[in-house]
Amino acid sequence: MNQVALITGASRGIGRGVALDLAAAGWNLVVNYANNKTAADDTAECSIEHARSAGHEICAKTCQGDVGQSKDRDRLVSFVRNQFGRLDLLVNNAGITSIGRSDLLEASEENWDALMAINLKGPFFLSQLVGNWMIEQNKLDSSLRGKIINISSISSDAVSINRGDYCIAKAGLRMVTKLFAARLADAGINVYEVRPGIIASDMTEPVKNKYDKMINEGLTPIRRWGQPGDVGKAVVALAQDYFPFTTGDVFNVDGGFTVRRI
Ligand code: NAP
Repeated sequence: MNQVALITGASRGIGRGVALDLAAAGWNLVVNYANNKTAADDTAECSIEHARSAGHEICAKTCQGDVGQSKDRDRLVSFVRNQFGRLDLLVNNAGITSIGRSDLLEASEENWDALMAINLKGPFFLSQLVGNWMIEQNKLDSSLRGKIINISSISSDAVSINRGDYCIAKAGLRMVTKLFAARLADAGINVYEVRPGIIASDMTEPVKNKYDKMINEGLTPIRRWGQPGDVGKAVVALAQDYFPFTTGDVFNVDGGFTVRRI
């Protein structure tokens, strides 16, 4: 049987890019989404076509669920169990940007809570659910070594004073990655953080002009927008076990954003 990946927020953007690349590598998929069923169905159909073009037959299913809600996370993991009976990879990708992008001195508690539920609490408790299942799988068959990949952001380190909650949630994901890496290593489960830079998606569309200008002016040594497929390729490399002796670590996919220049 093909390996199985659950990708949160895979209806659009980076999650969709990850789905297409995993499909091309022969993975079965569960495409999670919050609201946009049409886009999720499209990701699933395109994934199957991508896989076929690469010579693989895969199964791609969609499952609605808000990762910020406990009952939805339970339902999502039960769905994977019922459909496939195994899980080899969780990609914690679903996320929202800072609601209203308010200045630090005006940001509201209500918007903080909404963002933290999706961007930080969701990945933590989904990793907990899935981690327990992956430990069970590993006990039954030691060749089954699950993986968890958290999609964070350059915002886990670079500050944006009008998106404090987003930056803090992404910085928190750094610790989520290290904690689960330490806890799950004995069951052969590696946990990674993939840290994208500026990637073209619906999330960045409203700030496209700003980033166009910054990229043209040399913000990143690689002077272009990142694409969802850039993140997809990194996820596939990790998923396919090319880094078996690495866990808890960060993989930057950011066009060289962190290279300091003088
Ligand atoms: P996007 O284009 O806005 O897509 C967001 C995806 O997440 C959609 O599939 C959406 O589903 C889903 N989603 C939103 N809230 C959800 C929830 N509560 N439960 C489940 N799914 C939910 O965003 P993106 O740019 O691809 O970003 C994906 C991830 O990469 C995020 O974690 C983001 O922080 C991170 N990231 C993005 C960039 C960038 O430049 N774009 C850079 C660094 C990191 P629906 O279609 O149903 O709404």
